[in-house]
Amino acid sequence: MNHNNPLFPFSAILLDMDGVLFHGMNPIDGAIDFMHSIEHIPHVFITNNPIRLPESMADKMAEIGFKRPDERLIITSGEATAAWLAQQKPKFSFFAIGAGGLHKSLQKYGYEDQDKADYVVVGEGEGLDYSSLTTGINLIIKQGAQLICTNPDTSVDAFYRGKRAILPGAGALVAPFITATGKQPITIGKPKPLLYEIALQELQVQANTCLMIGDRPDTDIIGAQQLGIQTALVRTGRFTPGEQLPDNMPAPDWDVENLIQLKKSLGL
Ligand SMILES: [Mg+2]
Repeated sequence: MNHNNPLFPFSAILLDMDGVLFHGMNPIDGAIDFMHSIEHIPHVFITNNPIRLPESMADKMAEIGFKRPDERLIITSGEATAAWLAQQKPKFSFFAIGAGGLHKSLQKYGYEDQDKADYVVVGEGEGLDYSSLTTGINLIIKQGAQLICTNPDTSVDAFYRGKRAILPGAGALVAPFITATGKQPITIGKPKPLLYEIALQELQVQANTCLMIGDRPDTDIIGAQQLGIQTALVRTGRFTPGEQLPDNMPAPDWDVENLIQLKKSLGL
């Protein structure tokens, strides 16, 4: 362990972002202070949100009052998708449906080719319409392109046109492709292991010495538990304090109202 608190039982921390650190452009109570208190502990951010690039996410954090994190510590599902596809096929071709950040992440490793794509990649954000659905399903059915989904979230709490709203997640946006083609996608984000595995590689630590902090039991917590990572659920996002968790969700190791309480519980 390369930090100073002998009571703190972890060598590293993985953090979800939306619903843990901020809502849109609003930092969550205690989040800025919590980040100061773990500055000396190795940590990375893992987010299923592929809409922004890591550098843009780091800028956003600085803009809303956090110390700007090193962008290499921010792993989005868009970046993880691009890195994974490059492992499957260097210089892959793709047709992507989703926000600008997803396209830019994929362009780092592959190239867009809507006539001969190896992969049809569906992520969050605008982009799905009759035309893009038609292009995508033809690539899959006629040319054998593999369907890829950046993350399985069916909905996300976010901001749309200036208002807080529930938006369709990649898991919902990929559904018409599944229906039209009868093919299942390969899905990259939490709770699938890939984002966590990239984070553990980045940190060079073993899963069982890490703590994952998230707001969603169905993605953040389950995915971490499956790899043997310890878990803390904060009730500042998907669930509110006192709200009953669904029966089929395994209990996190820590279940706290917010990062203020977690900081106390962990003796930080
Ligand atoms: Mg979240």
